[in-house]
Amino acid sequence: MKRRDFLLRVGGIALATPIMANLAACDDDEDGDTPDAAAKTCNSVGTEIGNNSIDNHQLTVPAADVTAGVQKEYTLTLGAGHTHRLTVTSANFQTLLNDGMIQLTSTNDDSHTHSVTLTCSSS
Ligand SMILES: [Zn+2]
Repeated sequence: MKRRDFLLRVGGIALATPIMANLAACDDDEDGDTPDAAAKTCNSVGTEIGNNSIDNHQLTVPAADVTAGVQKEYTLTLGAGHTHRLTVTSANFQTLLNDGMIQLTSTNDDSHTHSVTLTCSSS
């Protein structure tokens, strides 16, 4: 009886070990230092609007939109009496996810456009 218990326990440990090794391997993957692996996760989107010192437009792009990858039009907030629109195509979202950054141009309103840089962060 005792010998059988011992064998069962050893068997249990042997079975558990490969699972733990797999978990460790997954962790290594997530923290991998290849740019692709790091950029595939988009938990927050940073926005930087160029030529914006007077207009002070604001733009919010939810990270969920990047994950969804469906073309969407955003409106830059009212600044200096005007707004702009920005269209992000599904291809743009894919590039943002892959490269971690894209640069687009807003619509022309009040006789000017703004460059808009979107950056993906995994945190
Ligand atoms: Zn403007």
